[in-house]
Amino acid sequence: MRKSILSIALFSVAISTYAQDSLMFRRIHDNIMLHGTCYEDLRVLSKNIGHRLSGSPQAEQAIVWAQKAMEAAGADKVWLQPVDVPHWVRGKEYLKLKFAGSKDYKNVTMLSLGNAVGTDGKVLEAPIIIANNFEEFEKMPAKDVKGKIVFFNYRFRQDLPHTFEGYGDAGTYRWRGPSVASAKGAAGVIIRSVSTGLDDFPHTGAMRYADTVKPIPAIAIGNTSADLLEQELRKGAVQAQIMSECKMLGAVRSFNVIGEITGSVYPDKYIVVGGHLDSWDVGDGAHDDGAGCVQSIEVLRTFKALNIKPRYTIRAVMFMNEENGLKGGLAYNDSALARKEEHILAIESDAGGFSPRGFGLAMEESKRRQIRSYRKLFLPYGVYDFEREEGGADISPMQRRGVPCAGLRPDPQRYFDLHHTANDVFEQINHRELKLGAVALTQLVYITSTYGLK
Ligand SMILES: [Zn+2]
Repeated sequence: MRKSILSIALFSVAISTYAQDSLMFRRIHDNIMLHGTCYEDLRVLSKNIGHRLSGSPQAEQAIVWAQKAMEAAGADKVWLQPVDVPHWVRGKEYLKLKFAGSKDYKNVTMLSLGNAVGTDGKVLEAPIIIANNFEEFEKMPAKDVKGKIVFFNYRFRQDLPHTFEGYGDAGTYRWRGPSVASAKGAAGVIIRSVSTGLDDFPHTGAMRYADTVKPIPAIAIGNTSADLLEQELRKGAVQAQIMSECKMLGAVRSFNVIGEITGSVYPDKYIVVGGHLDSWDVGDGAHDDGAGCVQSIEVLRTFKALNIKPRYTIRAVMFMNEENGLKGGLAYNDSALARKEEHILAIESDAGGFSPRGFGLAMEESKRRQIRSYRKLFLPYGVYDFEREEGGADISPMQRRGVPCAGLRPDPQRYFDLHHTANDVFEQINHRELKLGAVALTQLVYITSTYGLK
């Protein structure tokens, strides 16, 4: 009898806790959808400042903007954390192709890959050879590669339901292709863009030269240009001219921008929510990753607007240099270690400002189970997928030392049409989808700051 009374009592406590949490989830949603500022914040960042590659004057302006935006959101404390970042510049560049039977060169839209060397403003002229993948390239004799421009014609796999898997798969051609080609004596590299888009936008993005190879120019072309080049190479020889002024300058002092709301019970234990402030130097970086920045600021604003006093300290972190160095993520982690700051959870939003579908959970099983137990609270907001186990790039240094990490997973279908292109602009953002992402982040921060993560 006593046992059943106790279980009824526990059951009612559970119900009322659920009802309270459910009500708070609703209040968070309503406040952001009706009064959220993230869309307007993103307009200012995207339209007034624009793209902001590490080391650029726009990146400096973005730091000042982020500081002010976090102060306006009501953060108890906002500060800059120093980070030394690489400074790569693009300059002028072009690609011209001459097809078999034609006397004239034809201009093709292109972008040099980030961190690549250029041609020093000179024209690199050479025949193109095609390899559909690394296996094909390995079989080519070095004498056929020497002095040529290698075209890696690897297609983004459209048969994978989750485009981030396709990105991981094709992305290796961008990251490693130039080194693989140079190791065999190639003079330059063209890659088919790492892109789901059926269009001609070239996608830039970071690449890295292996220490053992000579750096060679490396560029990307859009899918329709890649289709044309593939077709023309089937008919006969294609000659290319590449001119590019891109180069790496020396390191520059920059900053992560951090804003926090101090915890009421555990002021020295932290929940981080963040995105990266830098972007590529084309488009205006609205999805990648202006969205993650303004959503993280929205978390702070919403806690203040609803007068929620978090038990743990909540930090919104705008990381610098995710795109071509990850120096901000590394600096944040180094500082947290040096100060012995205990982080109970780090959340990243860096997958586009699209409708949220769930969170990747990179943490031990018991903690993953705890967050999955809140699934019912998230369901009314279209957030249901807690199956994947990844966090994000900027929080990966923390993840590697065992800090529980989570990554916001928006709908992934359109991200790799826009990612790292001139078309990643504010006009591609839907205000409801962007805000819903901020809602999901705020709800996850709310629930973990209420119950901790055990
Ligand atoms: Zn990004």
